[in-house]
Amino acid sequence: DYAVGIDIGGTKIAIGIVDSEGEICSSDKIDMDKEATPDYMVENISANIKSLLRHKDVKVSDLRGIGIGAPGPLNTTRGMITSPQNLPGWWDYPIVERVQQHFHAETNIVLENDANAAAVAEKWKGAGTTNENFVYVTISTGIGGGLFSNSKLLQGVSGNAGEIGHIVIDPSLGTCPCGQKGCWEFIASGTAISRRGSELKGYKLPTKKVIELANQGDVQMKQIRDQSFEYIGMGCVTLINMLDPEKIIIGGGVSQIGDPLFLSVRDYVSKFALNPTGRTTEIVPAGLQQSSGLIGAASLIHGNY
Ligand code: ADP
Ligand code: ZN
Repeated sequence: DYAVGIDIGGTKIAIGIVDSEGEICSSDKIDMDKEATPDYMVENISANIKSLLRHKDVKVSDLRGIGIGAPGPLNTTRGMITSPQNLPGWWDYPIVERVQQHFHAETNIVLENDANAAAVAEKWKGAGTTNENFVYVTISTGIGGGLFSNSKLLQGVSGNAGEIGHIVIDPSLGTCPCGQKGCWEFIASGTAISRRGSELKGYKLPTKKVIELANQGDVQMKQIRDQSFEYIGMGCVTLINMLDPEKIIIGGGVSQIGDPLFLSVRDYVSKFALNPTGRTTEIVPAGLQQSSGLIGAASLIHGNY
């Protein structure tokens, strides 16, 4: 019993065949080419999926469906990517219809916000299996979120609930591409940590390098690191005060920093969440680590949300 997952990201597209146990049977990655048209990328994605299916000896007619996780904003009911900040070439793109053209008319194709899909995967197979109320936060190119309340994914009217990257944290820190000043993702995402570190140093530094230099004692980079961790903590406190979750699960590339990040966020939450139980909210890494996006896309078919 197989489903296909397609996880569309700002830097790469992950595709895979996932079985009903949530195991990835085979997968592949395609670099996101922002110069190419979405139609061209979808043609590539479809060809790669068909090749994975052939190798696994799975017929398209035997697939349970294809799940697509894509950056928001999008319109899940209309199957459209609407206006993602990091993918300007994909605005108003009817992705479900275009993928459908490469498969069968009766193939079940589901679209969700990528972070919502990852949250579904964390509920199904990851760190949220025992939780009815949790927030999944991905800190990657941007910051995204998926909100589970009473074991249901909060979707909103058009599938755009959980755009937590645009919670305002500090308006004095510059204007986010969305137009607001001081959004969480503009000051604490991987992109932001890299940008802020690079600005201070005067040359380009990837996020991982900013953290490495900080760990080696570089005073400027320590300041960026510690501030970023604090901003991440602030966002978590807002989520806890608003939603009263049992747990916050943090995934995405930046979560690979590991313990130093988690210890710092827990410390901030323990001081500033409004209510005493909020202060002890568990802050944990994604159970599916860097696979939550791909398994998440497939869990839109296999999972229960
Ligand atoms: P995407 O945004 O395409 O889904 P990722 O979840 O991998 O991709 O997030 C990419 C971001 O994570 C980049 O800003 C990258 O610099 C950062 N990143 C990746 N690995 C690490 C790491 N080990 N430590 C800190 N930041 C990292
Ligand atoms: Zn914003």
